[in-house]
Amino acid sequence: MKLGIATAASVVGIEGHPVRIEAALLPGLPTFSIVGLADTAVSESRERIRAAFAASGIDFPNTRITVNLSPADIPKYGTAFDLGIACAILAALAGHAGPPNSIVLGELGLDGSVRPVRGVLPACLGAIHRGLTGAVVPVEAVSEAELARSRVRGVWHLTQVARAFGVRANPVPPCEEIGAVGEPEPTAEPDLADVRGQAEARLALEMAAAGEHHLFMVGPPGVGKSMLAVRLPGIMPLLTHSEGIEVAAVRSLLGSFDGRLPTRRPFADPHHTASAAALVGGGSSPRPGAISRAHHGVLFLDELAEFAPAALEALREPMETGRVHISRARTAVVFPARFQLVGAANPCRCGKLFDGGCTCSPASLRAYRGRLSGPLMDRFDLKVRLRRPSAAELTGPAGEPSSAVRARVEAARRRQAARFSEEAWDTNAHTPGEWLRSHTEVPAGMRRAIRRALTTGALSARGVDKLLRAAWTVADLVGHSAPRSDDFDLAYTMRVMGVNND
Ligand SMILES: [Zn+2]
Repeated sequence: MKLGIATAASVVGIEGHPVRIEAALLPGLPTFSIVGLADTAVSESRERIRAAFAASGIDFPNTRITVNLSPADIPKYGTAFDLGIACAILAALAGHAGPPNSIVLGELGLDGSVRPVRGVLPACLGAIHRGLTGAVVPVEAVSEAELARSRVRGVWHLTQVARAFGVRANPVPPCEEIGAVGEPEPTAEPDLADVRGQAEARLALEMAAAGEHHLFMVGPPGVGKSMLAVRLPGIMPLLTHSEGIEVAAVRSLLGSFDGRLPTRRPFADPHHTASAAALVGGGSSPRPGAISRAHHGVLFLDELAEFAPAALEALREPMETGRVHISRARTAVVFPARFQLVGAANPCRCGKLFDGGCTCSPASLRAYRGRLSGPLMDRFDLKVRLRRPSAAELTGPAGEPSSAVRARVEAARRRQAARFSEEAWDTNAHTPGEWLRSHTEVPAGMRRAIRRALTTGALSARGVDKLLRAAWTVADLVGHSAPRSDDFDLAYTMRVMGVNND
């Protein structure tokens, strides 16, 4: 019997797990079986491997071949095992071990070409974690694998692997169209300078960025809610290296990673018809949803009242924990999902409530407000009402640019980092109510206003904590060591307003 061994990897959720591949060539009638697989796509790799061997001029062993993938209890999705299985067979043919301490990833085309696969970055990160420091990957994925600090070898054709083992094969065909990636044209980022007027909304956006607060905007259609939301990532601090790796890993799973470590915060804006699965992730081989695309960035839900209640309900767990669990019959996976939520809504169905001329019936108004209440609405620390800009504002000077706002935001984040250096959290939005209540000195006038708001129902007990969080963020932005009276006043206006007072 000849035995060849290689290692591939399976990505479960966002976690890469090495998978050992053993290929045994046994005397007997020619057969080719693969055991330890669950996914039909992987069984189909038998056909691709046979065809790829033939196209590469490699003699397919005319004997009984048994390939075993272990551990058996790790689900194995997709086509990334082709190259590893081929590698184990080639190692058996050559009579020596496969690449030591390396994982081998890649799909095989029927012509022997090695094709890109999803999840190279998380696969390599998982492998490194278990001491496998090398990676043989499709040449398109080299920079991606290097982000995991793997020793990387990029391949584009099966003949390269065969020749490396000393197995007879056709000459290696040239590597076409690869490496022609180059530096992309820098895309112009939307800048806050484009937003005219909207002083209050701009301030709310800055506060959201500074304290990591969820933000709700209400205003008539076309007033600029989306325009503001897309500019939030541009005023947030750049991603740290480890945050960038996490963002890249999600993109790798989705097949949308371009190989460059992202520095800008992501932005995801699923449509209101999105299903719960599209929003939080799902599918038979689970894929990340919009909330994971927004990991370490912004999730913008425009027309919040139009989202299916079940979809919004599915946001609750990730908003608490920063990740989402997806359970399937065979497995349960976890995807990262720490995002800042920006919700936007019209004031009513017809949109004219604030402008006069609202044609909604009282029942319709009630129903609409009902949809903008409840547990999700309670998660917004900041609420702001947008008005139509005046003619003077529209023709006035350009707004302050994003770079200037981001400088203040970064200074405010540094103050929080210093304040919370010994704590388990790092921003005001994540500060527990207990800490807030024991560390915040509320001025007497504000205490009276809060008491009044509590009695009238304009503010809930939870809303008081949010008010304190927002007040700290104002203080951090203006450079006060603790919130002062006017910091509270501003936080109060941001908190006690809108279509849905709490
Ligand atoms: Zn209306």
